[in-house]
Amino acid sequence: MSPSGFSREERAVAANARPPGWHNPKAAGRYDLVVIGAGPGGATAAREAAALGAKVALIERDRVGGHCLNVGCVSSKALIRTARFYAEMRDAETLGGQVQGDQAIDFAAIMARMLRVQMRLSRAYSAQRLRDAGIDLYFGAAEFCGSDTLSVEGEVLRFRKALIATGARVLTPAIPGLAEAGYLTNQTIFNLTECPRRLLVAGGGPLGCELAQAFCRFGAHVIIAQDNPTFLPKEERDAAQILSDSLAHDGVEIHLNTEVVAVRLEAGRKCVDLVSEDDLFSVVVDDIAVGAGRMANVEGLNLEAAGVAYDAGTGVRVDDFLRTSNPRIFAAGDVCLEHKFTHAAEASARIAVGNALFLGHQRLSALVIPWCTYTDPEIAHVGLYVEEAREQAIPVRTFTILMHDVDRAVTDGEDAGFVKIHVRAGSDQILGATIVARHAGEMINGLSLAITSGIGLQALARVIHTYPTQAEAIKLAAEAYQRSRLTPRLKALAARWLAR
Ligand SMILES: Cc1cc2nc3c(=O)[nH]c(=O)nc-3n(C[C@H](O)[C@H](O)[C@H](O)COP(=O)(O)OP(=O)(O)OC[C@H]3O[C@@H](n4cnc5c(N)ncnc54)[C@H](O)[C@@H]3O)c2cc1C
Repeated sequence: MSPSGFSREERAVAANARPPGWHNPKAAGRYDLVVIGAGPGGATAAREAAALGAKVALIERDRVGGHCLNVGCVSSKALIRTARFYAEMRDAETLGGQVQGDQAIDFAAIMARMLRVQMRLSRAYSAQRLRDAGIDLYFGAAEFCGSDTLSVEGEVLRFRKALIATGARVLTPAIPGLAEAGYLTNQTIFNLTECPRRLLVAGGGPLGCELAQAFCRFGAHVIIAQDNPTFLPKEERDAAQILSDSLAHDGVEIHLNTEVVAVRLEAGRKCVDLVSEDDLFSVVVDDIAVGAGRMANVEGLNLEAAGVAYDAGTGVRVDDFLRTSNPRIFAAGDVCLEHKFTHAAEASARIAVGNALFLGHQRLSALVIPWCTYTDPEIAHVGLYVEEAREQAIPVRTFTILMHDVDRAVTDGEDAGFVKIHVRAGSDQILGATIVARHAGEMINGLSLAITSGIGLQALARVIHTYPTQAEAIKLAAEAYQRSRLTPRLKALAARWLAR
């Protein structure tokens, strides 16, 4: 730690993401594209457009890298990795190992590693690299002045096209006493210097579940309150149930169907009132982490001056081509999408650049967007859920392989979960899939490729998978599909042939 109070890693991240003493460029002439927000969406758009020869300005009010690098994916996945290591030490005997003595948890070392990871990745997304790519990078808050101008730090920028990629932030629930008592969000939780002894996580969506499991594995007594009967309400019920079992195995205190209704400060600790099916009870914790719901960053942009329609909650309104109500202005990423993921922000940014600058007609609805919750086991999904297929009157047939029937999952002691692939009944067309497995986030990509490229289960059954791998579960599901095509008549014909 230096006299400034910041560690070497923190200063290095800052130097990459927002270099001290940075001089904004002088705006000269009209830009082909001005991008607001240098998160994954905005930075991708700026790089793509500059690489294609466009004159590009990128404006960032805080740090290059956005939520993903600074207070989101990178920090949380780095913590999750260390949390898994602690869980493996805890369960060492199941792997035939032994850990001598008490398992000491060094929270400072955990956070220091997280910062080292962030430092390393911040180099790839640095301000300097953006400048080297020929992008005019401005630091400051952008505000529209008219339909084709905006200002940043007193400088007025004229544009042919603009892209709004200002992201989203955690929604603060309207819980009486919460603001007064204080709470953690993704903006603050990664700055903790001590692991809370007792932590309440409000919300059982992806962020809440990931944080609950990680902090529990770091030794906190974690209580998770979810106002729904299941975690991850969007996911299939059996997936959510496996997650619930896993959190319980870790020692997380689970309260489903439970709402946080009030918070009080008592002797420096937070007393939280919870209601579950008319039953009111209280828990006392050191910290409360809020992880439910995201709200688009639209305020302060003066969107009215640009004629851009928006909703204060869901964000900038776009059509399927990512055009806003001002034909010069497009939007991408969390500020306008339902699916708030880094990969979705990047993919939508590419569409927006093509459509804005090169007369493209790519549609957002044509994207196949997978997602994953990085708990242990991971829960990944792509395409349609059965319910959605039914709503669209599409007949569905599902092929399921349990991970405990997959050799590699068994050898690795990671056999909780399943691969479920939904096809259009009577065909091998993959409509959607859910994977619950240690490596679900990696495995789902094969199925995304199949859906995107129109590859059916029949073709997947012919793909030779390396043995033993957990991804073989996909091949096993494809083989189950092949067997399902063996009608009694085909079987009878085969039997007759063999009996010749
Ligand atoms: C804890 C956590 C974990 C996550 N984990 C994952 C994960 O594992 N995988 C995944 O895919 N996604 C994950 N996400 C979501 C992911 O971080 C976001 O979907 C992604 O960052 C969205 O990118 P974006 O470019 O749209 O917005 P952001 O990353 O939010 O970037 C927007 C940028 O715009 C800037 N900005 C805002 N207003 C202005 C203005 N007026 N002027 C100038 N600049 C402005 C902001 O400062 C910010 O830097 C996670 C999120 C959180 C919070």
